[in-house]
Amino acid sequence: MTVEVRPLGVACNIACQYCYQNPQRDAGNVPGRYDLDAILASLDSERQPFALFGGEPLLVPIPDLERLWAYGLERFETNRIQTNGALITDEHIALFLAYKVRVGVSIDGPDELNDARWAGSLERTRAQTARSEAAIDKMCAAGVPTSLIITLHRANASAERLPRLVEWVRGLDARGILGARLHLLEVDSPEVGEKYRLTAAENVAVLEAFEALDGEVRMGLDVFSDMKRMMEGRDDKASCVWRACDPYTTAAVRSVEGSGQMSNCGRTNKDGVDFVKGDRPGYERYLALYHTPQQHGGCKDCRFFLVCKGYCPGTSLDGDWRNRTEHCDTWKSLYGTLERRMQKEGRHPLTLSGLRPDLERRMLEAWARGRNPTLYEQLHRMKRELDGLLEEAP
Ligand code: SF4
Ligand code: SF4
Repeated sequence: MTVEVRPLGVACNIACQYCYQNPQRDAGNVPGRYDLDAILASLDSERQPFALFGGEPLLVPIPDLERLWAYGLERFETNRIQTNGALITDEHIALFLAYKVRVGVSIDGPDELNDARWAGSLERTRAQTARSEAAIDKMCAAGVPTSLIITLHRANASAERLPRLVEWVRGLDARGILGARLHLLEVDSPEVGEKYRLTAAENVAVLEAFEALDGEVRMGLDVFSDMKRMMEGRDDKASCVWRACDPYTTAAVRSVEGSGQMSNCGRTNKDGVDFVKGDRPGYERYLALYHTPQQHGGCKDCRFFLVCKGYCPGTSLDGDWRNRTEHCDTWKSLYGTLERRMQKEGRHPLTLSGLRPDLERRMLEAWARGRNPTLYEQLHRMKRELDGLLEEAP
């Protein structure tokens, strides 16, 4: 579970064209101030390490950053921040080192590959990308633990641009970047889709190219590792996107807003409103997806349902969490590939197992009771039941 602290909510120094937080900005829900005492009081109740998040958290003045990081260091011996990197100064880097801040930089590549992270004009966009790149270099040289989030789209991962993106990541590996997380583009408006969306076949090709790179670099790229574990029923450490996330409580993400109020992962805020966190989860999305035909936005009869579950609700078709993900064709294709690979190796993918119908029934029953067990737990329960039967058999 991640605790995200967002003193200035979605306030940002740039305006990425595809940002999933744009509905909130369009609705004018951008706070201009925060209450540090209220934030720290909420963190006292959370008792978890936290990450500074935004918008752009480096819009927070340095004395307040330092107060938050001193609190994080004293209680948890570590700190984290997710930033676009363009505002990082030498003073920030000194603080990252002093307060053991692990830095995640959201950047989609060098030069024109990062143009979708728009700063108002082409000139300003390229200048801020150059500042982010320079900050990454300086942090690597200074020994700040740094990783990347790269969103994949037409401007950085089309067939023509992909080789440069891969080469850039390879170069950063040599400079000491710890890891990169790859995100498929979340499309929240037709204009963004038209300009930046990759086809399912292109997404598959890009992820396969990074899987090949994963085998040769030191940094963690983690392409497909979650999916491979899902296919073995080992989902106890799987990321939230595969684990039936309830959009009104988002178990994997708890956000502390500038007022100290708790809220959810922002990916589901399609109406521009940061809803207050619900006090108990519901799994109606997963019950509905299981029974709804695919031509109506559901997942009915998909053999990958247990390992995919319609994916992250923030990526749902038409921005409606009741639907399955817009990336369905990509995941279907990749899970199909993993299935064939496992069969070739003589292994048994969960998706082709005779246990699947019983496991599906058990998950549906649990969701209907407001519980969300792991597949791993359920499989162990099934094994115990079988062992009990065998012991009792004459
Ligand atoms: S909305 Fe998506 S990214 Fe956010 S916690 Fe849920 S599954 Fe994870
Ligand atoms: S692959 Fe598509 S149909 Fe199957 S569970 Fe995932 S989103 Fe649903």
